[in-house]
Amino acid sequence: MRTPPDPFAHKYAEARVKFLAAAHGTQLESHPEPLRGLELETLAMDVARIGADDADALLIVSSGCHGVEGYCGSGAQVAMLHDDALRDKARLAGVALLFVHALNPWGFSFGRRVTHEGVDLNRNFIDFRRPPPGNPGYDQLAAALLPEDWPPTLNDERQIMAWGGSHGMPALQAAISGGQYRHPDGLFYGGLSPTWSQQTLRMVLRQHASRCRLLGWIDLHSGLGESGVGERIFAARDEDGAKHRAKAWWGNRITFTDDGSSTSSDLHGNLWHAAYDECPQAAYAGITLEFGTQPAEAVLRALRHDHWLARRRQPNDEHAEFARAAMRQAFFTDTPDWKQAVIAQSRAAAAQAIDGMAAWR
Ligand SMILES: [Zn+2]
Repeated sequence: MRTPPDPFAHKYAEARVKFLAAAHGTQLESHPEPLRGLELETLAMDVARIGADDADALLIVSSGCHGVEGYCGSGAQVAMLHDDALRDKARLAGVALLFVHALNPWGFSFGRRVTHEGVDLNRNFIDFRRPPPGNPGYDQLAAALLPEDWPPTLNDERQIMAWGGSHGMPALQAAISGGQYRHPDGLFYGGLSPTWSQQTLRMVLRQHASRCRLLGWIDLHSGLGESGVGERIFAARDEDGAKHRAKAWWGNRITFTDDGSSTSSDLHGNLWHAAYDECPQAAYAGITLEFGTQPAEAVLRALRHDHWLARRRQPNDEHAEFARAAMRQAFFTDTPDWKQAVIAQSRAAAAQAIDGMAAWR
């Protein structure tokens, strides 16, 4: 096995170079984003395919849905691309692999969770022909979460805790993180139209995933749950035997947002909805592979500061560098143990999916 010294990167541009180098010799394409990055570098959603064009089983491994979380997911992808044993396993099983690097390259480069439109990509896949879902809890908490001045006052924090006290902590988490469509500069905002990332991802799915009979998807995330533990969160609709299929492909440790077994709330507008629109011919199942980093309060604090700064629109002020470093730390733990855990568990999830999909035929 060719193991690179460190598949993880310190900047988006470095992550992209490592991905493109690791993907050398695969079927590779790049979809440039119209905007430039923090250091004026080119931004792109890069796609590497391994396996036959007409493979009847396709496993997608994607990173950077939430920009800054790409530090985690990109490293896992690069390690997998260098993993000859894993690639051989997929080849022998007849499962094609599709690595989608940096679903949200702008957020990755700027160290933010949102897209250049200010949108949480994993809340953006709703049906925009209908009124967006309401979130009265967020409406009530918006001013305390992102107050006029930073840092938030004791009174702001008390308001948030009091809301949790009367509605329960799961309801508080759902109100904050479940997705909202009324506060464009707020947290977990789903937007009012499809983002560039959504449109580009749909194009990639149409091109690569509209012929397979079986479609598996591992979407790599970070920032929620126990440090270094990759939670396998069911990422599909509860219909057409998808839960059964997901358990067959990824095992019984899979968690669900609709029964309280997951650390994540039930969300609006997940990106995997696109699999149903663009790949209706395929039996689909997917997981969000979510790696814990820091305690939830610390992650939320970094996110609030990041959004507060973005709303001020003064990118060069003295807070910016500090906030970017805090965001990186909130979504990526730069220790050998944590990075090794990410590599090992991502590989295990991919290997298990390859076996599971091969046995399903
Ligand atoms: Zn995420």
